[in-house]
Amino acid sequence: MFDKDKAESYINKLLNHYKIKVVSWSKTDCGRAWINSKEVKIPKPTNLMRFCIGLHEIGHIVEDATKSKMKLYQSEYKAEQFAIREAKSLGFDTTEYEKNARGYVTMCIAKGYVRKLNLDKIEPHIKDFCGIDFETWRVKKVFVSNWRKELNIEIKN
Ligand SMILES: [Zn+2]
Repeated sequence: MFDKDKAESYINKLLNHYKIKVVSWSKTDCGRAWINSKEVKIPKPTNLMRFCIGLHEIGHIVEDATKSKMKLYQSEYKAEQFAIREAKSLGFDTTEYEKNARGYVTMCIAKGYVRKLNLDKIEPHIKDFCGIDFETWRVKKVFVSNWRKELNIEIKN
């Protein structure tokens, strides 16, 4: 079961530990991270989804995408893994959030793919996480939408 107080004190603990500043509390289910200045905009962790969104943004800073020139899908995957791992460490059930995370990472790969991202270079563990047969994407147009709810992937010739 989700525990709001536990989630809030955990977020505060991470913010302190990594010296991350909250520039503002997001009123919607979205967040942002500014890696160089170590600042985030995150929602208050009033439910598991919002808690994980906060963890995701903190994850961007902890995993520091600027150091290793990661591609979008790689840094989003890392931030999602961070969020899932941390939420699980508190004993929360992340099944629903993981579905979202899969959809989101898949969407980032699709975005890269339309810009000539080489599907062969995608790390096997990231492919496994997405749970998708990327072979079906080849020489076709791929549209990924509605990744927050039921992931919808359309493949057109
Ligand atoms: Zn992100």
